[in-house]
Amino acid sequence: MRGLTFKKGIHPNYNKESTSSKSIETLMPQGELVFPMSQHLGSPCKPLVKKGDSILVGQKIGDATGFISAPIHSSISGKVKAVEERTIFRGTKDVCVVIENDFAYEDSPYMLENAIDNYEELTRDQLVNIVREAGLVGMGGAGFPTHVKLAPPPDKQIRFIIINGAECEPYLTSDHRVMLEEGERIIEGVKILLQIFKEATALICIEDNKLDAIDNLSKLTKQAEKIEIVKLHTKYPQGSEKHLIYAAMGKEVPSGKLPLDIGCAVFNIDSIIAIWRAVTKGRPIMRRIVTLAGSGFNNPCNLKVRIGTSFRELLEYAKWDEEKTLKIIAGGPMMGTAISSLDVPVVKGTSAILCFTDKEVSSQKASNCMRCGKCVEVCPMELVPNTIHMAAINSEFDVFLKHDGMDCIECGCCSYICPSKRQLVQSIRTAKSAIRSRK
Ligand code: SF4
Ligand code: SF4
Repeated sequence: MRGLTFKKGIHPNYNKESTSSKSIETLMPQGELVFPMSQHLGSPCKPLVKKGDSILVGQKIGDATGFISAPIHSSISGKVKAVEERTIFRGTKDVCVVIENDFAYEDSPYMLENAIDNYEELTRDQLVNIVREAGLVGMGGAGFPTHVKLAPPPDKQIRFIIINGAECEPYLTSDHRVMLEEGERIIEGVKILLQIFKEATALICIEDNKLDAIDNLSKLTKQAEKIEIVKLHTKYPQGSEKHLIYAAMGKEVPSGKLPLDIGCAVFNIDSIIAIWRAVTKGRPIMRRIVTLAGSGFNNPCNLKVRIGTSFRELLEYAKWDEEKTLKIIAGGPMMGTAISSLDVPVVKGTSAILCFTDKEVSSQKASNCMRCGKCVEVCPMELVPNTIHMAAINSEFDVFLKHDGMDCIECGCCSYICPSKRQLVQSIRTAKSAIRSRK
């Protein structure tokens, strides 16, 4: 065991107590389910079904249109009600397949055909193909297709599989609960990865505010070869790939490079379970564990839900207080997205829904920069946030680029620490996106 971390970062109030000791509950959907065709980084899927088609659980309803893309499967059985544009959680529109639930939950034969008893006999290509067909993407929120990580170029050898059990965002506890409740599946999933990357060692990295999860996985890996548990100091944003690698191994991923350039591949805890389920049960990604927390809920909890379920159903289950709620966020408070409609579906990357009242939402207005330097002290990318923020709001993109603004990981540490409550990360995010669009 090691006790490690990365440079800089912050120690926010973690607020995980309301859900960390509650077992995961299951919510079955009541209304129609909506499946956006873009739930991943890369090109959107092409719908494979039309209005009136009958659908089974696990049936592919949207197919990948490029290498960096991942198919979408139905999480229920029923009839296609529409294929049309709908609003998704980011507030943008996306083509969605809408399915009316018949509540029969009849499985597609696809899943039975693909259930495998002995994955040890499969080749690396066969395993990667199963993961691709199952539509797996990173469950940490970024949504990078998992099969792409599993198939690095031949000149890049993966020596370390880094399993991200940091769950460093405040309020989020779904990975913590999974490490307590589904530890055996995690270890089996890691063994599948070790079969794909035969030369690698797996490091399961967990922060020291989850000692019970560290204990559980340590017991389960006592006899396991090439699997180590790494205990990390609790700090935000430890779950960022580059910072997790530094914390676990003391190695830096150079600017503009990827983890695979230094022989690492990083996977989220829930992604490991999804790999295990795809390979051994033949089940594509159809469910998601979502943390519902914040003072706007009377029943904060972790819910296992079918992808496509409306946010509204989750909020009602967790007994949200509509009167008191001031802000609803999809994801964590540091990197999540404020939402304006509850009639949006859970997607593969929905890790949490937070309901905040005046207890969490600050009414302090932004004021002038007092040049205190606090944002510089905490930036884990060693940037000068106030400088790139000023360049961003003045649209001085050459200055922004000169100060490595594109290296910002949008962690929000600078905004969190700023005594003047300046909207640093928001302006930087907007500038990054404008520069990408120009390119
Ligand atoms: S500038 Fe970017 S990387 Fe640095 S603290 Fe702010 S959001 Fe994080
Ligand atoms: S933390 Fe805020 S007030 Fe301090 S230097 Fe940075 S932007 Fe200015």
